[in-house]
Amino acid sequence: MKIYDCVIIGAGVAGMTAAIYLKRAGLDFVLLEKGVPGGQINKSSNIENYPGFKKVDGPTLAFNIYEQIENLGVVYKYGDVKEIKDSDNHKVVCTEQEEYITKTIIIATGRKPRELGLDNEKKLLGSGISYCAYCDGMLYKNKDVIIIGGGNSALEEALYIADIANKVYIVHRSSEYRADEVLIDKVNKKENIIKYFNKEVIEILENNDKFSGVKLNDESIINADGLFIYIGQIPETNFINTIDKTKDGYIVTNEHLKTTDDKIYASGDVLKKDLYQIATSIGEGALAASNVIKILK
Ligand code: NAP
Repeated sequence: MKIYDCVIIGAGVAGMTAAIYLKRAGLDFVLLEKGVPGGQINKSSNIENYPGFKKVDGPTLAFNIYEQIENLGVVYKYGDVKEIKDSDNHKVVCTEQEEYITKTIIIATGRKPRELGLDNEKKLLGSGISYCAYCDGMLYKNKDVIIIGGGNSALEEALYIADIANKVYIVHRSSEYRADEVLIDKVNKKENIIKYFNKEVIEILENNDKFSGVKLNDESIINADGLFIYIGQIPETNFINTIDKTKDGYIVTNEHLKTTDDKIYASGDVLKKDLYQIATSIGEGALAASNVIKILK
């Protein structure tokens, strides 16, 4: 059976950057992705802090990077990785469809949205509840929506949807936002954004199997047509339990982005880090790949 030099798991910005570096070094590898190339950045309506682009939307940036790896001839395959096993001196990356034997692995699976964990949340997904304002915002033209959260994502997407919807309620559990000043300023200036601080959603309300509003911890109710949940993200690392992880699931590495297994590297948002940005993930993708190239050569 074929033995790859490397398998990159995840084609977000970190994984695709690693692919550019491995390809240019002439390595034989495959890039696996279970969703769409670009990962989480596809949910960003407006990126203004990535150098070289004064303003770009996430899907456009994702497509540009994808086009670059396609032009280089990177082998890109669908694959939802379930397990990583050892076999002789190699690793075996197992998806439901296939197994890939490889000398090294770069994990770049990123993060997924954190759920509120309330009744109805899963049931009403697609019936008024969403984790992506940029994907579903147009459904709420001239309607009222609620955004839960107080980070950069919540505020960026509140601003995006405020230009489409009638009213946008931001419900935040703390007394101040955890976001860039520039975004807070913009939110404060938007007349159709109504801000709630120190409030938690305790119940999701529905009417005829559609989302209809939320009940807050002071028992007040906000009626709305849509609910967008932006309460942070959790790392997608459940498929691997043989390397060290933090208690919240982030992968532990050394400064070379090597995990506690010599053959496995990690990059991007699966790492516990100070700054979750496209710029940092791209740097980590490049670093993990260049260290894999070093050990293989
Ligand atoms: P985040 O920064 O972790 O913020 C999550 C927000 O959700 C916090 O305000 C938090 O409240 C709230 N929250 C957490 N759990 C909650 C719960 N159970 N119920 C209600 N509220 C809850 O997440 P993010 O906005 O998704 O951003 C993720 C990372 O990407 C951040 O590092 C962010 O800076 C970065 N990012 C950057 C940009 C940019 O640079 N333009 C854009 C998007 C994201 P508390 O504050 O009370 O904890």
